[in-house]
Amino acid sequence: MQLFTCDHCSQPVYFDNTLCLNCQNQLGFDGLKLKMVSLQPQPDGRLISAADGKAYHFCSNSQYHVCNWVIPDDDPAIFCMACSLNRTIPDLSQPEYLERWRVIETAKHWLIYALLRWKLPVISKVTDPEIGLAFNFKSDSGMPPGQRVLTGHADGLITMNIAEADDVEREMARNSMDEVYRTVLGHFRHEIGHYYWDRLIADSAHLETFRELYGDESTSYQDALQKHYQNGAPENWQENYISAYATMHPWESWAETWAHYLHIVDTLETAYAFGITIQPKNDNHYQVLSTKMEDNAYDCADFEKIFEEWLPLSIMMNSLNRSMGAKDLYPFVINATVKGKLKFIHEVIHQAALK
Ligand SMILES: [Zn+2]
Ligand SMILES: [Zn+2]
Ligand SMILES: [Zn+2]
Repeated sequence: MQLFTCDHCSQPVYFDNTLCLNCQNQLGFDGLKLKMVSLQPQPDGRLISAADGKAYHFCSNSQYHVCNWVIPDDDPAIFCMACSLNRTIPDLSQPEYLERWRVIETAKHWLIYALLRWKLPVISKVTDPEIGLAFNFKSDSGMPPGQRVLTGHADGLITMNIAEADDVEREMARNSMDEVYRTVLGHFRHEIGHYYWDRLIADSAHLETFRELYGDESTSYQDALQKHYQNGAPENWQENYISAYATMHPWESWAETWAHYLHIVDTLETAYAFGITIQPKNDNHYQVLSTKMEDNAYDCADFEKIFEEWLPLSIMMNSLNRSMGAKDLYPFVINATVKGKLKFIHEVIHQAALK
């Protein structure tokens, strides 16, 4: 994620800020320009950009403090492009559901930023029911006894159980599934991977390479699922996969690896925004742990460069976390096989990006 700038006073501001603490202007995020807009309320109620005099209105979801995106007044839309993808939101008469929805929207907006940043096609199911995208955020309370809302993707519809936004529930799920990492943003990055597999790989010229790297996805998903939950991952899974779950079926291997590509690129963009240079005191000779963030990873066409920057950054992040008594921030190993899978995703995304 970038470090943004207040376009009125040049103060650095964050993606989710709604107020510039330096010049006191309201702030909104313009999803078309991918920049922060500082806004001044007018006597007639309109909000005018302090930088260029253009009029904007906030996304309707700003009333619940779940969205800070703005829409130019020449567009009558009431929802921003991130919120317009919502099909179902939680029952807001339950105060704890509103809190969970906020956590979910923060992660979803972070995800949509990445897709827009790459200019990947982001189409609402309202516009195109067949190939569009939509989100369902549901709780278990409306389900028949004994049944739970399953987080997942089906034909462009991404469903999230809002319990994932509760730290205790998510940690319990993480433990019971024996996962080293589980976040709401991680879920979104995984599920959107399934969506873009349908859009960018199925029936495309990439399918053959996909099968070479990830395996034949035409094998039964149901059988693979059953086998995975009965037997678990093969013992040597680390040799070929980024996670144990990725061993289940080629589609899951794709979605898991896709999520990692998004983790890596967005974290590198943050490091770039902060101007991070890593030069360990004792790494003068081999320079294996040294790097300088020279390119924004979202724009960088050279995968090797991204990978070369990621290794030292992830090692440094893990070391910082250990100093704080926390678990490794990036508890994963990328070997040559996984690296090849990531490189393929990199190429698919860069080719698909709308020019
Ligand atoms: Zn300002
Ligand atoms: Zn919105
Ligand atoms: Zn999946």
